[in-house]
Amino acid sequence: MKQIVIISGKGGTGKTFITSSIAAIAENKVISDCDVDAADLHLMLSPIIKEKHIFKSGKVAILNKELCTGCGKCINVCRFDAITPYENIVTIDPISCDGCGICARICPVGAIRMEEKVSGEWYISETKYGPMVHAKLNIAEENSGKLISVIRKKASEIAEMEKRDFIIIDGSPGIGCPVISSISGADCAIVVTEPTMSGLHDAERVIKTARHFGVSPCMIINKYDLNIEMSRKIEDYAQVENISVIGKIPFDEEVVEAITRGIPIVEYSKGEVVDNLYSIWGRVLDILKIKDEGIEKDAIK
Ligand code: SF4
Ligand code: SF4
Repeated sequence: MKQIVIISGKGGTGKTFITSSIAAIAENKVISDCDVDAADLHLMLSPIIKEKHIFKSGKVAILNKELCTGCGKCINVCRFDAITPYENIVTIDPISCDGCGICARICPVGAIRMEEKVSGEWYISETKYGPMVHAKLNIAEENSGKLISVIRKKASEIAEMEKRDFIIIDGSPGIGCPVISSISGADCAIVVTEPTMSGLHDAERVIKTARHFGVSPCMIINKYDLNIEMSRKIEDYAQVENISVIGKIPFDEEVVEAITRGIPIVEYSKGEVVDNLYSIWGRVLDILKIKDEGIEKDAIK
């Protein structure tokens, strides 16, 4: 079973439209949306939720109003300004609370207890393209890396159990903890970029991250025809870095229409973009085959 992760230097590069199309093209796969901070693959794949699970992460301080005397000692020790005076006692803001537990330790009457915090939900769903594991992180929650690990573990279990050939992962953008959780252990990272200077810089950073974690990158230039000169610069960079550019997708209004209707473009149109996406999947299969045959990582051209 092979894991293919689609990532980008930042959001809005077309990563999700490409992932949804690859998810539609690839056969016998599990789909996994690891972009939990801005999950939107479900908008394209219309999953039907079969299982819903609570995601708990970290702790939060809970006040017992009956016991609180309003002495204010907890206010003074909270470095996150989560506790404020309220009607002769105090109130604790669960969003600001960092879960350090100091208030609970110093409260002289035991009016504060620490509880596990519900940070989101994750789902096992069915789509017309195969099983999908995805999640929703609550607003202002930060433990996306941990949630991504949960999703990836479950996707692997389903793939093993159902003897699936691929896991298609919509990875988190950027280079932080969530993207590291998204890419680690993947067989191939497809980096989606756009022909702008910032697109190139973002791609460089994410490629360095992928390589640092031992994942072979390849690249797609989305909307390459909006700036041919910049696209050439990206291709030059890829050549110097020995990275395969597996596709150059032209700008097409039909992509926008397909996204608006929540349909993978490969099911919406028969144009050049779709031909490109089929060719991209063919290149990915070649890369995985070559890798299996033991040719050095990143040496695929
Ligand atoms: S330290 Fe305890 S008793 Fe004092 S204000 Fe805080 S919660 Fe209430
Ligand atoms: S647990 Fe820590 S961050 Fe949360 S309210 Fe208590 S002192 Fe503040």
